[in-house]
Amino acid sequence: MAWPLKTYDDLLALIRASEHEYDLGVIDRAYQLALKSHEEQKRLSGSPYISHPVAVACILVELGMDTESVAAGLLHDVVEDTPVNLEQLKKEFGAEIAGLTDGVTKLGRIPYSSREQQQAENLRKMLIAMSEDIRVIIIKLADRLHNMRTIEFMPPQKQRDKALENMEVYAPIAHRLGIRAVKEELEDLSLRCLDPIAYEEIESNLELRSSERTAFIELTKKRIYERVSTLIPNVYLEGRVKSINGIYRKMFMQNHAMDEIYDIYAVRVIVDTVNDCYNVLGIIHDMFRPIPNRFKDYISTPKPNMYQSLHTTVIGKEGIPFEVQIRTWEMHHTAEYGIAAHWKYKLGLGAKSGDSLEQRLTWIRQMLENQKDSDDATDLIRNIKSDLVPEEVFVFTPKGDVISLPSGSTVIDFAYAIHSAVGNRMVGAKVDKRIVPLDYRVKTGEIIEIMTSKETRGPSRDWLKIVKTSEARNKIRSWFKREKRDENIAEGKAELEREFRRNNIELTDAELAQVLEKIGAKQNCASSDDVYAAIGYGGIQLWKVIPKIKEDYMKVKNPPQPVETVQPPKPVNRKAASGVVVDGMENCLIKFSRCCNPLPGDEIIGFITRGFGVSIHKRNCTNVPKNISESPEPERWVPVHWTGNVKEEFKTTLEIVANDRSGLLADITQQLFNMHISIHTLNSRETKDGSAVILATITINGLDHLQTIVSRLNNIPGIVSIRRS
Ligand code: MN
Repeated sequence: MAWPLKTYDDLLALIRASEHEYDLGVIDRAYQLALKSHEEQKRLSGSPYISHPVAVACILVELGMDTESVAAGLLHDVVEDTPVNLEQLKKEFGAEIAGLTDGVTKLGRIPYSSREQQQAENLRKMLIAMSEDIRVIIIKLADRLHNMRTIEFMPPQKQRDKALENMEVYAPIAHRLGIRAVKEELEDLSLRCLDPIAYEEIESNLELRSSERTAFIELTKKRIYERVSTLIPNVYLEGRVKSINGIYRKMFMQNHAMDEIYDIYAVRVIVDTVNDCYNVLGIIHDMFRPIPNRFKDYISTPKPNMYQSLHTTVIGKEGIPFEVQIRTWEMHHTAEYGIAAHWKYKLGLGAKSGDSLEQRLTWIRQMLENQKDSDDATDLIRNIKSDLVPEEVFVFTPKGDVISLPSGSTVIDFAYAIHSAVGNRMVGAKVDKRIVPLDYRVKTGEIIEIMTSKETRGPSRDWLKIVKTSEARNKIRSWFKREKRDENIAEGKAELEREFRRNNIELTDAELAQVLEKIGAKQNCASSDDVYAAIGYGGIQLWKVIPKIKEDYMKVKNPPQPVETVQPPKPVNRKAASGVVVDGMENCLIKFSRCCNPLPGDEIIGFITRGFGVSIHKRNCTNVPKNISESPEPERWVPVHWTGNVKEEFKTTLEIVANDRSGLLADITQQLFNMHISIHTLNSRETKDGSAVILATITINGLDHLQTIVSRLNNIPGIVSIRRS
């Protein structure tokens, strides 16, 4: 069927015929700009491009949309296809119309690849989430619909691709929004591309032509109304013709022959009371001949989803069977909006009370419907910002698969959502082709690429603090549990000792064994190493178990009878552990300052803090006065030196500047891996001039070691500079 080209005059005629008020000044300016911008362009059909935006605007007027939507419909392809930019639209039409146009443009850029059920559902949710204003999605639907009406000019494969996308993504959205006319037309036009033979077969088997079908249903409605309304008050009638796609589904999916489908035509009668329902049924059976075995009483026996109605099929004098559904208004609302919305309707609750996507969509659907008869509702629709799926974000793999994550998720969560092997081998991530730090929180619509290396030593423990999803957390934990038993045992041992020291708990070996056994018994640990390992990978959380241990310990060490002073806990000798000796002070507490992270070999100096022992700084740290004797408290600065044999390991952060290129991050991690350096965090960002700045926190055992690492890293192509940060 050929659609006549829509002209601006057609649009104006529709606007005049509509019951809504439109700002013709704005619409005219939008038309003039679109006309001028698309001047040189033609559609594939050869007709001037402007016919497309005008047709989209016509559909929007038919749907009862407002001035802003119609203007945005006229302008929807201007930013994408012509030199006009968003700024200009904002200046000439204001933020609202520019925002709608921009929203439609963005939806057009979403790639579509996969055909799996779950993917389609994610894509639908994402389209809705990306349309910050629900009008955006409606303009997009009008755009899709007009493109389908003129699809015959596209190459066949393109036709099928578009048709499939409509079937899986856009028609279901139209359905959820309750825009039935758009949903059914999109489906029928798509079906004609996807299965032309079946489409023709159905079309030719229908006794009536398309326009006659509508006329038949209107006539039937009129006949029923004339008779019923004389006997029953407040009768309301609806009628519909089953879409070609609806018939197709019944024939080919449910295996019915065409002449077994009785609800191609259907009339619905809505009345006030249940009693009226049965009275209407009597009248209908009196007027038309009922088909045997087609009467169903879902009022006395509701369907499991609470659906209630009387169904019957009858034949009129034309010999065409049609279905009649009879129900009350209450049953009608349950059928249309589901049971939850039904209660809201009854109780008069607003939209805010529901929070699931489905409930909010239901509400929008009601608004769109009510909008037809109230101006208030139009204002409401304008204000529906679709924070429709605020608890989820939708992002893409480079191949175009959509992944849904809880909002706040990082690129690490994304990597583990793809596969644990991807997460475990992750060395970095790119968002929309730019390198981002590992704690980057992904946003809807972004394309995420995870950089992996076969040689990586696996996730970092720090990731546990960054990730949002328990899926990622569990996968990281289980990696540590599996891969790093020795390391876990050491880590667990160190952590436990640290906690004991902090709580002044001193245990003999026998006591320690007892404590470990006690913890282990609750956690199914067979040996003390198992307990340490569990602490190491996070299976046992010390803050949960320490208080009880401490309590038991105090009972044993401080028996209730106060006899003699208890030996004060010995100050902990950190000398051996830290590798630093404070000249003239035995056994003092030592900590390394965070500001300069001194390394063995650095020239260092100590500062006596109040209550935290001596903090060690690099001599040239900015926090150390240049001239100590002239500083306010010279007596608190004390000389310190490194002990000869330092086995301890230190964390330091390198700032690596490099010319950005693909594989850079992987090369760096590979090199560090080859030197058996453990990487704690690795973040990178891009500077304005296009070079990459990478911050790597790594473990080293001294200045010499650091120099070796830096010179090895310097051999990587593209590295500009490396310094300790
Ligand atoms: Mn378009």
